[in-house]
Amino acid sequence: MSPRLVLFDIDGTLVSAGGISARAFGEALLEAFGTMGDAERFDYSGKTDPQIVRELMKGAGFTDEEIEERRPRALEEYRRRLATSIRPEHVVPKPGMGPLLEALDRQPAVTLALLTGNLEPTARLKLQPVDANRFFPFGAFGSDDEDRYRLPRVALARAREEVGVSFEGPDVVIVGDSVHDVRCGRDLGVRAVAVATGRTSAERLAEDRPAALLSDFSDTGAAVAAILGTEDS
Ligand SMILES: [Mg+2]
Repeated sequence: MSPRLVLFDIDGTLVSAGGISARAFGEALLEAFGTMGDAERFDYSGKTDPQIVRELMKGAGFTDEEIEERRPRALEEYRRRLATSIRPEHVVPKPGMGPLLEALDRQPAVTLALLTGNLEPTARLKLQPVDANRFFPFGAFGSDDEDRYRLPRVALARAREEVGVSFEGPDVVIVGDSVHDVRCGRDLGVRAVAVATGRTSAERLAEDRPAALLSDFSDTGAAVAAILGTEDS
């Protein structure tokens, strides 16, 4: 098998930490902008944290200039509030997460990394309670770029720095629960594996034609085969 770079989304894919992170995020927006905007009805799936701040506050009437000025404070408040409030019981691993990461990590040809809209520090906070940071020495984060569609390139550049391999095309796999995870690497020809453990239904994910679609990771063997594409050939 050729060397593979497997990039995992976090929220809805590896874990759910929705309640506690939504509360910290909302409080941070209140602190920096005086409003949470239409946070209740907002579609967060597949978006980066800086993008969520921009879209919510644009909807609340702030200009781009005002958003750029206040956003660093909102994001820092979010990180601070999440760091002080998160407890192990707030983070629920998705079915089969641990065994899947262990199985992939055992494969010498596989490099694991993150591709997430979280800022790096909040990504690490969410994975720490389920002891998953050890699988992901690097990644591409919302703190690298507001646009998720630019994060695959960031991840590839980081892989070249960290492991000295130029991964490309179908040797790169993005695993995520939203249509944006499925689509964001398409211009690079990467494989996308969708998992229906987030807010997006399997039917909706299927419309974007991922290379594979899983209901969850509870069948470790099937999930590994789908992710590495060993079932395709
Ligand atoms: Mg997600």
